[in-house]
Amino acid sequence: MSVDAERPGRREIGRVHRRLRRLYGPRPAPREKQEILDALIGTVLSQHTSDVNSSRAFASLKARFPDWDAARRASLATIRSSIRSGGLANVKAARIRAILKEVHAERGETSLEHLKRMSAQRIKRELSRLPGVGPKTVACVLLFGLGRPDFPVDTHVHRVARRLGWVPARASAEATYEHLAARVPAERMYELHVLLVNHGRQLCRARDPRCPECPLLPGCDAGSMQLG
Ligand code: SF4
Repeated sequence: MSVDAERPGRREIGRVHRRLRRLYGPRPAPREKQEILDALIGTVLSQHTSDVNSSRAFASLKARFPDWDAARRASLATIRSSIRSGGLANVKAARIRAILKEVHAERGETSLEHLKRMSAQRIKRELSRLPGVGPKTVACVLLFGLGRPDFPVDTHVHRVARRLGWVPARASAEATYEHLAARVPAERMYELHVLLVNHGRQLCRARDPRCPECPLLPGCDAGSMQLG
């Protein structure tokens, strides 16, 4: 499926950003950066669950182990029981353990802090080599963990972008990421990502989007079609 190379332009991106900020309030990037492994494990835990559940699972994991090396040496069952509140505990525990073991095997320490000195391209390459770490997880670690500009496309950003007409209705999440990461100005990436996720949860829901209340309706392909 080809992607419309013209949209969204800078003006359209700016307009959507301003309208969402007005609707939901500003979401500035936090000043404090995380440890990279914290950001990576936190992203794994955030998959297919709510923010509340994943935060609870992350806090429980951090409370259970004094550091990531202790988690690496723990049994799968111990990790699993520590993250039970986050959902999909079997899959996530196995992924977390595999990541920690691979990091240690490659570096001789259970840390990824050395990546902080590297270029974004190099960081992407290094993270992508870890088991179960795909482009969305890498983009989340860059944006949230390292404060580097990137534009993760989760299920909400993907849905809103397709409905707005920024990418074709059948564009994959990967194609949507490639398209938007090349078009959204770096200084808008963090806040626009967070606002679009919020919008996908609140108004532009998967079922029953609330188009009549949406400030993005003028200029939205799906909304205009739905309301005729
Ligand atoms: S107008 Fe409707 S489809 Fe378009 S962004 Fe708003 S809620 Fe989503």
